[in-house]
Amino acid sequence: MRIGIISDIHGNLEALQTVLADIDSKGVDKIISLGDIIGYGPDPVACVDLVAKRCEWSLMGNHDFAVLYEPTNFNKAAEEAAFWTREQFEEETKRDREAAVKRWEFLGKLRVRVAMGPFLCVHGSPRRPINEYMFPEDAENSPQKMISIFERIQKFCLVGHTHVPGVFVGDRDFFKPGELNGVFEFVEGQKAILNPGSVGQPRDSDPRSSYMILETGDDLTAQRAHFYRLEYPIQPVVDKIHAIPKLTNWLGDRLLEGR
Ligand code: ZN
Repeated sequence: MRIGIISDIHGNLEALQTVLADIDSKGVDKIISLGDIIGYGPDPVACVDLVAKRCEWSLMGNHDFAVLYEPTNFNKAAEEAAFWTREQFEEETKRDREAAVKRWEFLGKLRVRVAMGPFLCVHGSPRRPINEYMFPEDAENSPQKMISIFERIQKFCLVGHTHVPGVFVGDRDFFKPGELNGVFEFVEGQKAILNPGSVGQPRDSDPRSSYMILETGDDLTAQRAHFYRLEYPIQPVVDKIHAIPKLTNWLGDRLLEGR
């Protein structure tokens, strides 16, 4: 099986369309989303509709949670963006009630944790699935955190949330995709946690969209993961963000820098 793994779209439609087209050109059996479809970006409604159409399922990210329920641990700019995003869904509900009902249903069913064969899928971490960050530097600086997190998985785990692609191996190491030549080979008996990076707001100083294709056996036995980066038209997204007063300009500017 080939499974497209996308995460942290954050309302960036141009990036999502670019990634989906690339996934289509490579060919997969299904696509899944690890959450944060919305928040920060200028096209939340269109992104949710496209994910609902194209993905087998999506997880609940902290920004999806913020828009649907309440923002937790958000700074002022992120909170304002969450409230603006919520307004967009409310406006759409007034405009096209039938489509909105379907959309709310999809959003209401976002799960916090999904087991897919040997892969546990969460947005944040196996310990705190919506909110906990697993930063690359944790592999070196936070051994207790890493041990506690790795104790909670049987084999492999897929996470998003930090917007930084790479692989944590055996609670001690973190490898960037470049250090793996873009391919991670799973080893039986060696636990690993993989992050596909962010489609719509990369934060590893590379502004290109990031995603992953997982290769497995028919029974979902883990084989390997391929990491991909893609250029997309960033400037139109930046311009849209700058034109929305409730989204701070930085949310656009950061896209150009990949931060
Ligand atoms: Zn995110």
